[in-house]
Amino acid sequence: MKDFTKEVLFSRDAIQSRVQRLAEEISRDYHGKELLLIGVLNGVFMFFSDLVKYMDIPVKVDFVRLASYGSGTTSSGDVRVLKGIELSVAGRDVLVVEDIVDTGYTLDALIKIIKAKNADSVKVCALLDKSERRMVDVPIDYTGFTVEQGFVVGYGLDYDEQFRYFQDIYTLHEISV
Ligand code: 5GP
Repeated sequence: MKDFTKEVLFSRDAIQSRVQRLAEEISRDYHGKELLLIGVLNGVFMFFSDLVKYMDIPVKVDFVRLASYGSGTTSSGDVRVLKGIELSVAGRDVLVVEDIVDTGYTLDALIKIIKAKNADSVKVCALLDKSERRMVDVPIDYTGFTVEQGFVVGYGLDYDEQFRYFQDIYTLHEISV
C-alpha cells in the first residue's frame, strides 16, 4: 500500500497574487485584441478559472484534453487528442493555458496542432514550469512559478485523481507502509 506525506510548496495566497499579476500582464499585452484562451484539461481547471476572472479584456475560452503515453510517470511524444478544439482558430490570437510543463511533449504537440489551424499568434501561459525533465524546447511566455523537482499536487493537479480540490500546491512524498 502507498501512503504519502505532503508539504506546502505554494500557499493559496501566493498562488492568488501570482495569478492576478499574470492576468494583469496578459491583459496589458493583449489590450485591444480579442484573445482565445485554450485550457489543457483536466489539471488546469482551477488556474484557468482564476486567471480568466482576474483578466480585464474580452476573451473566448475553449479546452482540449490530451493523453500522452510513456513509461511510468514520464510522458512521451506520442500524444493523442481526447477532446479537440471546438472554436475556430484561424486568424486568432491564441494563448494556451497549461497547469504544468514537464517534458514538454504535450505542449509541443498542441502548439503544432494550433499552428496547423492557421492561428495568427500562439503563446503559452503555464502555472508551473518544471524544467528539470524537459525533453523538447517549448517556449513559455508567461510562467507562474518554477518547480525544481518532485511531484506536485493540488490547485487542480492530481495524483491518481486525488488532491485536485486542495487550494494550496503541495510536494508529494511517497512513503511505503
Ligand atoms: P509533459 O508532456 O510536459 O511531460 O506533461 C505535462 C503533463 O504531465 C501535465 O499537464 C500534468 O498532467 C502531468 N505532470 C507533469 N508533472 C506533474 C507533477 O509534478 N504533478 C502532476 N500532478 N502532474 C504532472
